[in-house]
Amino acid sequence: MMREALVDLGAIEANVETLRRAVGGVRTMVIVKANGYGHGAAPAARAAVLGGADWLGVVDIDEALQLRSAGIDTPMLAWLHDPAQDFDEAVAARVDLGVSYLAQLDRVAAASGVAQVHLKVDTGLGRNGAAPRDWAAFFEAAAAHQRAGRIVVRGIFSHLAGAGMDGDAAQVLLFEDALAVAGSFGVEPELAHIAATGAALTLPGSRFDLVRLGIAAYGLSPFDDTHTTALGLIPAMRLSGTIVSVKRVTAGTGVSYGHDYVAPRDTTLALVPLGYADGIPRLGSGAGPVSINGITYTVAGRVAMDQVVVDVGDDAVAVGDRAIFFGDPATGVPSVGEWAEASGTINYEIVTRIGPRVTRRYTP
Ligand SMILES: *Cc1c(COP(=O)(O)O)cnc(C)c1O
Repeated sequence: MMREALVDLGAIEANVETLRRAVGGVRTMVIVKANGYGHGAAPAARAAVLGGADWLGVVDIDEALQLRSAGIDTPMLAWLHDPAQDFDEAVAARVDLGVSYLAQLDRVAAASGVAQVHLKVDTGLGRNGAAPRDWAAFFEAAAAHQRAGRIVVRGIFSHLAGAGMDGDAAQVLLFEDALAVAGSFGVEPELAHIAATGAALTLPGSRFDLVRLGIAAYGLSPFDDTHTTALGLIPAMRLSGTIVSVKRVTAGTGVSYGHDYVAPRDTTLALVPLGYADGIPRLGSGAGPVSINGITYTVAGRVAMDQVVVDVGDDAVAVGDRAIFFGDPATGVPSVGEWAEASGTINYEIVTRIGPRVTRRYTP
């Protein structure tokens, strides 16, 4: 494959098993939004279920329905909806709905069938979810809809800002208040959940009944690479391109747009057909690592839309060799984290932006 994201499904399965042990028996929802963090939603979802995931989480109903169409039957939650969303199809497909405000709750309750809902409360992230001043009315309405048989409240959930341990702990306390307010209206669902990977691993008091695991299921850390290794997680994606051209050039040859890189000596340039259209960050120009035949080089000059150039010096590199941008660092290649660092971003952004021209290939 000229551009390939090789995804190790066994790694995702093993990571989910490892994480289930690490969180001590609470239920797990593996998050496969954004095309499974770039890994492919349906294959990632199947691997997660093999690893013991009890739930799958996606952002929107389209993502959920695609998984249902792929034959994936696992309980599933979707939590970000178009204001004009028609909820009938999701209810019919048994997709649980995250609900964030009263008018949305009324619309979900009006859908045909009985919607299974998870009420979302904002405990300090400032995004979706009912604000504390609206909790009483929100839970009262939910209780009324539930009594009328229009909805079943399966969960109450929130999301952490990750603004330090104290910030997360304060959000957990406020979440407990929300559960108490809900309880006072007779809303006592089976699943309270607030923790994503970060808190699930570091703040046991945040685990409640279920944890939502995204990044770590793919073998990446919400903190830094050392955590991944310490837990024994395996990065699941290896991104590579075939070297499509190799040539000798003389010292002083400028490389790529703007000649930000000039060959300091006579050297060999290798051309790799991945660029920013494929998710290689342009901010990684002159900085991102690329491994060829076991040696790690740095991208020479600017990342272009479709390609990057690597200066391999006098090393023997041939057309058809593979240039690996990132993979499992235990195999001697750069990590996703190194690319993130080189580009001023986070590992999440690197893997989720791998573009559609890159062929996903799967190993069991
Ligand atoms: C993306 C997301 C997660 C997963 O976060 P990770 O840090 O990848 O584990 C969990 N919950 C919600 C609401 C999310 O949007």
